[in-house]
Amino acid sequence: MLKDKTVMDDEKDGLDALSKISGLKKERVQKIWDDVKDNQKVLEECERPHDFEQISEKFGSDYVCKKCGGKVRSIDAKWYKEGLKDSDSSQWIIRG
Ligand SMILES: [Zn+2]
Repeated sequence: MLKDKTVMDDEKDGLDALSKISGLKKERVQKIWDDVKDNQKVLEECERPHDFEQISEKFGSDYVCKKCGGKVRSIDAKWYKEGLKDSDSSQWIIRG
């Protein structure tokens, strides 16, 4: 009789696949994944709105929120700030 796959089995399969594709050790892939999840949790729990500032002067540098410490890519920070500007608009157009 075949055993049903569990979420844990799926995570192990995903970890194995990412390790194989990237050439990184499974422990390193797991650490990166844990960091991504931790950062997402910090961002979700932030007392909004985020207050992003560029981490360094280097082109394409990530941004960090001065309130929660969560990090995002520069393009995400840019669009977040654009969204805040537009949130004041009385001309909302939402499609889809
Ligand atoms: Zn924040």
